[in-house]
Amino acid sequence: MKIGILALQGDFHEHQNCFNKLSVETQLVKSVSEFDNCDSLVIPGGESTAISKLLVNTKLDKAIIEKASEGFPIWGTCAGLILISNQIIENDPVPLKLINITTSRNYYGRQIDSFVEKILFEKENFEAIFIRAPKIVDFEKDIELLSLTHDGTPVAVKSKNILGTSFHPELTDDLRIHKMFIDMTENK
Ligand code: GLN
Repeated sequence: MKIGILALQGDFHEHQNCFNKLSVETQLVKSVSEFDNCDSLVIPGGESTAISKLLVNTKLDKAIIEKASEGFPIWGTCAGLILISNQIIENDPVPLKLINITTSRNYYGRQIDSFVEKILFEKENFEAIFIRAPKIVDFEKDIELLSLTHDGTPVAVKSKNILGTSFHPELTDDLRIHKMFIDMTENK
């Protein structure tokens, strides 16, 4: 099993470190041929507009949309969550439309407004780090809400083979969400 990590821009190395700690093989993905070599894909945090342009240039956008429709596991974190949304309030970038949620970019303010909030993931505390994070402002009935903030906003969501988090699990030592994605990849 090999987990692909989109490596066009953003904090892909941090995700790779997490999977290394869990002794799972990874492949940094910058092209369709590297993508074809993987069993699942993480789309990391970074700048969604930059990642989107590079996805189009490399034709990875179409490849990801096609594989996702066949049940291939995809996990988007922060900018990655924006990219997998069905709709983005700001209408920029053009989303991949892999999961029935609407997101709003930079909802919680600028880099300087970054914060940590204790949320519950699988009934236990998880220190969620939010950096220029998107907010999930709407979602359809098929969406499983895995974690909410204190005001009831979903911040970890899942629908079939698609997982999304508006925070950055790759920046903490808590690897439970990476483990969940490994399970999704093994059981696809
Ligand atoms: N605000 C960024 C964007 O719109 C995402 C920030 C992040 O991934 N930490 O792409």
